[in-house]
Amino acid sequence: MSAEADCIFCQIVAGELPGAIVDSDERTVSFMDINPATPGHALVVPRTHAADLMAISDEDLEACTLAARRLARRMDEALAPAGFNVLNSCGTAAWQTVFHFHMHVVPRYADDPLKLPWIPGPGEPGAIAEVAARIRGDG
Ligand code: AMP
Ligand code: ZN
Repeated sequence: MSAEADCIFCQIVAGELPGAIVDSDERTVSFMDINPATPGHALVVPRTHAADLMAISDEDLEACTLAARRLARRMDEALAPAGFNVLNSCGTAAWQTVFHFHMHVVPRYADDPLKLPWIPGPGEPGAIAEVAARIRGDG
């Protein structure tokens, strides 16, 4: 796997930074977003660093897309949301802030207050860990 120095998502993939990992396979890792837009908001990233949608390989994009749907299905079982937004931001103008490709999987709930784009605010670590455990199926 090729990692990029100073990339926080490469560091999460490598286990050098903490992440609430909820799914992984040979090409992808999925973990909880620390500023969740809704309960259960998670990110899917390729293990191999690619800055954005333009840079990611076809194989890793396919793997990330399938991982996002796998995660949505697991969240559907665990959290019973009303729907999902699956989002990618590509470039600063599109609100990309972390330049390691990622897909947001955002469960939606009836009457949730989310308006896109959401205004990030810190999540409560215990609440994020609890929902991560539910998605993994060990909570
Ligand atoms: P974007 O603005 O599309 O690039 O999304 C980056 C996302 O990464 C934001 O939703 C952040 O809350 C999230 N994020 C940043 N740092 C971390 C981290 N250390 N662990 C989990 N999520 C993070
Ligand atoms: Zn990276």
